[in-house]
Amino acid sequence: MKNEFPANCWDWLRALFFPPKCLCCEERVPPDRLFCPLCAGKLPEEPNRRILRLNNGREAPVLAPFTYEGGYRETMLLYKFGGYRVIALRLGVPMAGLVKELPKWDWVVSYVPLSPEGLKDRGYDQSELLAWQVARHNGLEVLRLLEKVKKTKVQHDLGLEERKKNLLGAYRASELARGRDILLVDDIVTSGSTLKECASVLYGAGARSVCCLCAAVSKAERPGSGVEQAGTGGSEETETGEILRWL
Ligand SMILES: [Zn+2]
Repeated sequence: MKNEFPANCWDWLRALFFPPKCLCCEERVPPDRLFCPLCAGKLPEEPNRRILRLNNGREAPVLAPFTYEGGYRETMLLYKFGGYRVIALRLGVPMAGLVKELPKWDWVVSYVPLSPEGLKDRGYDQSELLAWQVARHNGLEVLRLLEKVKKTKVQHDLGLEERKKNLLGAYRASELARGRDILLVDDIVTSGSTLKECASVLYGAGARSVCCLCAAVSKAERPGSGVEQAGTGGSEETETGEILRWL
């Protein structure tokens, strides 16, 4: 992955007051760098690519720049649970860069929303802030296409079947999803259950295609979760075949 991006004047101005740090360690870095030279040398050449196979027979690719581990995991924990919403400005950069790997479709950016209670507790929706960054760097529009309508238990405490049951009916899609090519942003993908449910609901509302973008993929997957490495799950043509060829 690239370790540089075109920082704008606001990034440089912000750096005067809040010097940016490497996303994997405490080292200070220039505003147009995400990682210090040491951590940059350990970055993967390629992003993580997965395919979620949905119950309705459709598929949704998942792209994530990095793995949820080490110092990057610590940074994501600070972002998600430590109240450091400003980190979205930097976490969103490598995610936004992945859009260039996709077909030049008329993408609209959306995200996996928190419940109203979750938003009240946290004060910000971590996936929404990342969605805005993905959109900003690519000149795309953000639409809130999903609503969380059911209170769910914390997913990582549950087995695979319990996860599915927990999420059933948890999200509702807007009719604005009809006919759209949707980049669905979430912070971390683990089993993929949440993204599968959200992508299914969006397809149910008439979405033309759904591609998921996450800041990190967690290795803590459960066997048989339905998440597969791209290219290992058969090559039959599907309605998302055009996307899959790009992955
Ligand atoms: Zn570093």
